[in-house]
Amino acid sequence: MSAKHLASCIFCKIIKGEIPSLKLVETDLTYSFLDIGPLSKGHALVIPKYHAAKLHELPDEHLTDILPIAKKLALAVGCENYNILQNNGAIAHQVVDHVHFHMIPKPRASDEEG
Ligand code: 5GP
Ligand code: ZN
Repeated sequence: MSAKHLASCIFCKIIKGEIPSLKLVETDLTYSFLDIGPLSKGHALVIPKYHAAKLHELPDEHLTDILPIAKKLALAVGCENYNILQNNGAIAHQVVDHVHFHMIPKPRASDEEG
């Protein structure tokens, strides 16, 4: 399945290694990495390698790995409380126009000690 990249897109550049990232899990279709401005420890982004700005523009076949990887990251972080968030469009707080799912751990105060 061929990936489509957009030269000016920062997440396409991250996928191609042109911008460094802290990679977590990668499959043929999907890439995940730590968010540069984490809302909590372990805040990760899971993105399709195929460039589409918004979820409804992404062909279904490029979505298949996304939630299994988000689940894998949740298990790896070992946090029972977390948000999976996906913004579409500027009014809905999307800043980077390449589909991405946030995996945001919500640790209890006691989880963060030490
Ligand atoms: P949005 O508001 O579009 O849903 O979220 C975009 C996210 O991408 C933000 O949480 C932001 O911190 C993250 N981000 C933007 N640029 C970069 C980057 O160059 N590297 C990484 N790792 N994350 C980025
Ligand atoms: Zn892109």
